[in-house]
Amino acid sequence: MPEVVFSVDQSKSMTEQAVPGHNRWHPDVPAAANVRPGSEVRIECREWTDGQIGNNDSARDVADVDLTRAHMLSGPVSVEGAEPGDLLVVDILDLGPVPQESGPAPGQGWGYTGIFARENGGGFLTDYFPDAYKAIWDFHGQQATSRHLPGVRFTGITHPGLFGTAPSPEMLARWNAREASLVATDPERVPPLALPPEPSGVLAGTLSGPDLDRIGREGARTVPPRENGGNHDIKNLTRGSRVYYPVYVPGAKLSGGDLHFSQGDGEITFCGAIEMGGFIDLGIDLIKGGMETYGVTTNPIFQPGNVEPRYSEFLTFVGISVDHDSDTNHYLDATLAYRRACLNAIAYLSKFGFSPEQVYLILGAAPVEGRISGVVDIPNACCSLYIPTAIFDFDIRPSTAGPEASDRGSCATAR
Ligand code: ZN
Repeated sequence: MPEVVFSVDQSKSMTEQAVPGHNRWHPDVPAAANVRPGSEVRIECREWTDGQIGNNDSARDVADVDLTRAHMLSGPVSVEGAEPGDLLVVDILDLGPVPQESGPAPGQGWGYTGIFARENGGGFLTDYFPDAYKAIWDFHGQQATSRHLPGVRFTGITHPGLFGTAPSPEMLARWNAREASLVATDPERVPPLALPPEPSGVLAGTLSGPDLDRIGREGARTVPPRENGGNHDIKNLTRGSRVYYPVYVPGAKLSGGDLHFSQGDGEITFCGAIEMGGFIDLGIDLIKGGMETYGVTTNPIFQPGNVEPRYSEFLTFVGISVDHDSDTNHYLDATLAYRRACLNAIAYLSKFGFSPEQVYLILGAAPVEGRISGVVDIPNACCSLYIPTAIFDFDIRPSTAGPEASDRGSCATAR
């Protein structure tokens, strides 16, 4: 086993760990560990809300979650010799739930998928699903089942939702300025267009007092992906992947967490993955001057791993960039097209006895494939959603016999 360079006791919050992690992007969050290029290390992680969601049958905890504490990240890990302009090479050697433990923290044998309330987080279909819902998943080796989604079982595509390097002070200032400009276009919107720095709930490793207050005032929130990586939620960043992160500060300061047991493309419920704490083993190396050498300026690049669930048969739902409620065309809008594909899948699978919320949870968590199929056929973009038929213990294909409707239980609600 690689050396544990960031350890977590899952019975304690991140704030109470021997060396705490952090929940804002800022160059001045002190390094929690130092590693050499060429080393292989283990990093232990809390689930992204730091354990606010419980293994129970109520979604009150999702409705009331304190998002100022998210995402709870492990690190930063400083890499010896890394300088701005380098590429940090990160091999995802292995990852999984908390090993050898069962207990109340997500990742201790179980995980969850949440639909967040429009007033507190929202999600891709929040206009259609404004309330909070939840499904608890039990882990069986590589497979997951849920008492809230009977008849569904699949092999997870385990991956970290969020890893990235620290921004430089200049880059952080640019992020804050451009996101503030976006918010200013519609400051009263619910959910907000972006999340500005938030002093409440801030954690920045061992910092306290005025230093911590400054991180709270300046530190970027962890929700969006940005130039440094961040919250990509790319399900194919699984075991065997190699990621090349741009380096913007001395030491690179790699941080991450938000481990997922599984997720569909788009993570559509916002917390659509199966969320868990756990461990991730990384190989760390450097390509000196790699950003200039390879023309990498605003983005990580990666090679996907070669370990993933093998599903070969799918039922595919198409969506186009038309708002069918008002019969309005939106010019080549791929986001709307993907939303329509999801809504079309929900309408279809609801005919088999699931509630629409249950299907929404399944689409977030199961290894569904989302594709941008066409963005040139004016005026309609076309996106498609591929659902593996084998994840259901009944046949979901259309037939003259009609759908096999059955009592499929219910997901956890906030009522
Ligand atoms: Zn997540």
